[in-house]
Amino acid sequence: MYKDFLSYQNRTLCGLVFEQAWLNGGIEKESTEAQDAGWWFEDMVVRGKSDKEPTSLKKGGYNALFRTLEAHIPLAKEMVANEGKLVSADETAYRGNVRVKRDLVFVKDNKIKVVDIKTTAHLNNKWDYYAWGALAEGDIYSHRFMMQKRHKDIQAKTYMCVPYNGMMPDSFEYWIFSSKDSEVLILDFTVEELDAWYEHMEDTLQQILDTSFFEPIPELKRCNECPLKKNCKYKSKLPNKIVI
Ligand code: SF4
Repeated sequence: MYKDFLSYQNRTLCGLVFEQAWLNGGIEKESTEAQDAGWWFEDMVVRGKSDKEPTSLKKGGYNALFRTLEAHIPLAKEMVANEGKLVSADETAYRGNVRVKRDLVFVKDNKIKVVDIKTTAHLNNKWDYYAWGALAEGDIYSHRFMMQKRHKDIQAKTYMCVPYNGMMPDSFEYWIFSSKDSEVLILDFTVEELDAWYEHMEDTLQQILDTSFFEPIPELKRCNECPLKKNCKYKSKLPNKIVI
């Protein structure tokens, strides 16, 4: 919710979509094959099995997406084994109104590390504004890097402000596996002042609950892909094609 609220404030998410998704009962969305593959991969690493069925080819075997992710599984399991004691997997935890679903929680040297597993086809995509590629580049002077970093910071802080077994996490990592090739990116965060962040999140929640009007932010592509477009009077009316 906090990420989406930030997107709304940045005007990259329509206020009506935010309101429906988080305050009015949610939005049903079909998962994409890439999302299914990501969940399958996480399940296979974390639990060794999954309810998701990999997409198979007629001639047998998995399709390229699942094959690439399957090839990462031994490395991912090795990374899990090297992290220390795995104390929790796929756990949902709460602190007040803040809810997190943590893929992996480790304890090593009395310190708690939280890991979120991600898969992406865009690890090396230099052009997608919000792709992980911006962080893989590591160009701290680029606007893209700072935007993506801020976005991921929010997620990291959210994971870290919820205690595990009464203890605050000490660090957070994303393990990002490419669904196109063999590359893996690890991003680590050690976040200070967690209580201040928790207060901030509670304040943000109050701000959301106090908002009586969420602004429609129509835009041609966004509206065309919007699950609310059928009954929306604000839907962008710009023509799909402009012939000059
Ligand atoms: S159709 Fe456009 S304006 Fe309407 S809710 Fe969707 S994104 Fe917002």
